[in-house]
Amino acid sequence: MFRRRGSGAGAAGRPSGAGLPSGAPDALTTDALALDGVERSYRRGTTALAPVDLAVPRGRFLAVMGPSGSGKSTLLQCAAGLDRPTSGTVRIGGVDIGALGEAALTRLRRERVGFVFQTHNLVPSLSVLENVCLPLLLAGDPDAGRASRALAAVGLDGRAADRPAELSGGQQQRVAVARALVTSPDVVFADEPTGALDPATAQDVLALLRQAVDRDGHTVVMVTHDPAAAAWADEALFLAGGRVVTRLDRPGAAQVHGIMRNLPRRAA
Ligand code: ADP
Repeated sequence: MFRRRGSGAGAAGRPSGAGLPSGAPDALTTDALALDGVERSYRRGTTALAPVDLAVPRGRFLAVMGPSGSGKSTLLQCAAGLDRPTSGTVRIGGVDIGALGEAALTRLRRERVGFVFQTHNLVPSLSVLENVCLPLLLAGDPDAGRASRALAAVGLDGRAADRPAELSGGQQQRVAVARALVTSPDVVFADEPTGALDPATAQDVLALLRQAVDRDGHTVVMVTHDPAAAAWADEALFLAGGRVVTRLDRPGAAQVHGIMRNLPRRAA
């Protein structure tokens, strides 16, 4: 299995893979994702996320780790525009998403953000190709050729006409990866993308995400509890009690495991 880290190719290298166009005109100069003092608290005084600053350059693969309750989901939801922070600023591809109304935010999420979840959420009645094409359709540009190229990039062009149920769990997750990448988003958020897969299949999916970063200049932010998964990232960020407590460049599974073991379980 190949493993190539952070080429730094960034958006410049993007079109070579799935034949996807680059994003905004400022795509080469802005971070894919930037959080500035992002805090999320709830009415009863729970602080799920203390102020977090984070900049994710284009063409980077970031793993977000931490024990249960440390704020990983909250971070991901705020960063992806699925939840609004109590304070602070989130920028996706340079756009301050807090300044957007609901309709504009929904559109930005559709067109500039990709999602891969633990369960693939494919539409069972649609073919594999139609599933990949869906985000393009929602964006008003149902370009089947583009969807085909995205499907080919995950090695499943031969299964385009099949229904998701005819594919294995790992293949379904690869379709979900193709669907997340097809709009050439600024950021792909992956929430435990390998949580439901066996280790060998998980490796295939992680290799695909790695390839999307290295070959095509995509940016991936992945929440995981698995040190072996985090080891595919360029950087691991560790949360405890809603705070970023440490970061690790070029994380190795053993190192990640060691840090995880020593993280405080309770909120600070
Ligand atoms: P993780 O994903 O790391 O398990 P979460 O982001 O889900 O952590 O949760 C962080 C903290 O915020 C936890 O203490 C959790 O109980 C709290 N929390 C999350 N969502 C809510 C909510 N809707 N209302 C109140 N507290 C919440």
